[in-house]
Amino acid sequence: MAGNNWKWKKIAPGRFLAVTTCQRCGVEFNNGNVAASKYCPECAKIVQREKTRERVRKWRANKKADRRDHGA
Ligand SMILES: [Zn+2]
Repeated sequence: MAGNNWKWKKIAPGRFLAVTTCQRCGVEFNNGNVAASKYCPECAKIVQREKTRERVRKWRANKKADRRDHGA
């Protein structure tokens, strides 16, 4: 996945902190790995849960389709 819009934020003269903007709630955050993160820790939890739910939903749909297509 190509990078997000993380940037260096000046937190004090001569001091910068890498921050990125949460793509869900818009808050700026630093979780130690901004280049690989799209969501703040709070939203990451929620998004992860939604993804899991979506995966389970697809898995269930697939299982149903399999049974129909292959008669297994
Ligand atoms: Zn967020």
